[in-house]
Amino acid sequence: MAEPVVWLDDGTPASPHFKDCYRSSVQQGRLQAEQVFLAGCGLPAAWQGQPQWRILENGFGLGLNFLVSWQCWRTDPQRPTLLHYAATEAYPVSASELLHACRVYNDLLPLALELARQFEGLLPGVHRLAFDGGRVLLTLLIGPAERMLRTLDGSFDSVYLDGFAPDRNPQMWEPALLQTIARRCRRGTQLATPMLAQGVIDGLRQSGFELHKADGAAPKADQFIASYQPAWQPRLSPRSRPAARAPGSALVIGAGLAGAAVAASLTRRGWQISLLEAERPSAGASGLPVGLLSAHVSPDDGLLSRWSRAGLRITLAQAERLLEAQNHYSACGVLQRRFDATGALPRDWPKAGQYWSRAAGTVAGLEPTLSQGASDGATFESIWHARGGWIRPSALVSAWLSEAGVCAQTAKVDRLLRQDGQWLALDATGAELARGDLVVLANATDCARLLATVGAHIEAGGQILRGQVCWGEVQPGDLLPPVPVNGHGHLVPSFRNENGHTCWQFGASFDRDQTDLQPRPQSHADNLSKLAQLLPHTAQSLTGRQAQPWVGLRYAYKDHLPLIGPLDESRWPGLWLSTAYGSRGLAGTSLAAELIAAWLHEEPLPVEGRLALAVSAGRQIPRS
Ligand SMILES: Cc1cc2nc3c(=O)[nH]c(=O)nc-3n(C[C@H](O)[C@H](O)[C@H](O)COP(=O)(O)OP(=O)(O)OC[C@H]3O[C@@H](n4cnc5c(N)ncnc54)[C@H](O)[C@@H]3O)c2cc1C
Repeated sequence: MAEPVVWLDDGTPASPHFKDCYRSSVQQGRLQAEQVFLAGCGLPAAWQGQPQWRILENGFGLGLNFLVSWQCWRTDPQRPTLLHYAATEAYPVSASELLHACRVYNDLLPLALELARQFEGLLPGVHRLAFDGGRVLLTLLIGPAERMLRTLDGSFDSVYLDGFAPDRNPQMWEPALLQTIARRCRRGTQLATPMLAQGVIDGLRQSGFELHKADGAAPKADQFIASYQPAWQPRLSPRSRPAARAPGSALVIGAGLAGAAVAASLTRRGWQISLLEAERPSAGASGLPVGLLSAHVSPDDGLLSRWSRAGLRITLAQAERLLEAQNHYSACGVLQRRFDATGALPRDWPKAGQYWSRAAGTVAGLEPTLSQGASDGATFESIWHARGGWIRPSALVSAWLSEAGVCAQTAKVDRLLRQDGQWLALDATGAELARGDLVVLANATDCARLLATVGAHIEAGGQILRGQVCWGEVQPGDLLPPVPVNGHGHLVPSFRNENGHTCWQFGASFDRDQTDLQPRPQSHADNLSKLAQLLPHTAQSLTGRQAQPWVGLRYAYKDHLPLIGPLDESRWPGLWLSTAYGSRGLAGTSLAAELIAAWLHEEPLPVEGRLALAVSAGRQIPRS
């Protein structure tokens, strides 16, 4: 449930929860954003000519400070390439209230519409929203401010200290919270606040800020501007992570979803990319005719579920921005059928319906073609993934590469060599293919072999899973459900292939530690029998039809989470991974690329710190 907003007669928004107004009048909100926060932090002058600027706001509220900052960034010819804006919010309002709050500011309305479109599914945790081609990144930290700020990584250049008055919402102004904010500042970070309460002033001084009074925005005569100048040496990034790097040259090995996503995220930050690909882009698992995208669901809402949800948000946003709906992807939803209807779903998990909901105990009421199986006596628990759909992975790979302006060089990397502080990629004759300050291995099933060439070994647990699907053209009279269905096997009833034909696909087999790419009749028979369980009438209708097999190899790690980031900076500085996506490359690779970029540049992470550690490649290196 979104936080309710009450609109007073003069249009001023108020919070019934805190019995306070979001702003003292309609006009004052805009004025405060511009005069107190932006001008108070010396913006836009302070960010001009910088590669990135990072703003931290405590209390996102109705989003006005964000919209005004974004607008200011847009209109500044000397803006930084990337604007990061991280904001805490314990009680997010609805998207429609955000829009309503902006109705009086015509110039902000287009931005507010963009924001409102992505302002959904905000469960407690960290959410990354991206605007203007990924150059304006909003990280929403949904939950109690102090707890959320403690999980935040990265350092900030400007801080907006907003929030309801201390007597209405004391948690937002407690000394412990101000100290947590200070830990996310670099020396010289500017902080602005309209709050003049003595407790806040004292708390800021004790946290290392020097305060100056300045002219305030009406109705307040004064405001405070503070600069982080502690008498002690500031301690940034308490978590173990490599030091921030300036953009340099990066070798990316493998042009599937993982490599293309890394190329796109790093190019956006000014890196020079050399992309090396043994065959051609999407030659590996990413050449799958069509893939499904939906959140992983588990009773305890575990790491994989949270990772997949965060990834789903980013991939869907990228698909919307870069791909043609219905041609390259469709956000049509996915029906997941589960045979183990014995309490395996999180029963009380709040707000699940924003991502998925229980379809009725049987799905008989939904659509005749979906009641197959249920009507034949099988017991299903069904989940409707409202956020989900299908994507042609190769379309996403092409879109990322063309956005980055990166062409893959066709060459198989035989081994790696570290020389003069750089990584060299060598072919089988020992000739140099390319070199870079950083190397990112996105070569899936060949990753462990390449790591071994520099003496790095993935602990037992990396695994290859052969997979076969088949696809064919939809014919009149085919008995197909209206939406993709998965469970034990999957069916995509209708997608457009690269020749523009409308096709179906079903599969997929899981053949452990097998690497041959020859289609097998047995795998096809197994896929058909899974389909017969999932959708018996569809299976009957497609039996004997002309079908094209497709075989690919997944690479997975034993805990089902990917391997992302530095392997071990002390032993192999600049050797990073983006791999082991198993059956979930669509919902993980773009998020991983943003995580890699965030680690490289000490940016706010796109996921909770705990989740980032859980997927970090370094977790699998045996400690010596
Ligand atoms: C049958 C099947 C069904 C699937 N269904 C889904 C699904 O529904 N949803 C979903 O999200 N995911 C699905 N997946 C998983 C998804 O396809 C993968 O997770 C994803 O494509 C992995 O991307 P990647 O870039 O890591 O690997 P790949 O796409 O395999 O790319 C690795 C690239 O590295 C190149 N390479 C390897 N070695 C070298 C070298 N030494 N030098 C240079 N280049 C090299 C390869 O040629 C290849 O192009 C499925 C996979 C299979 C096999």
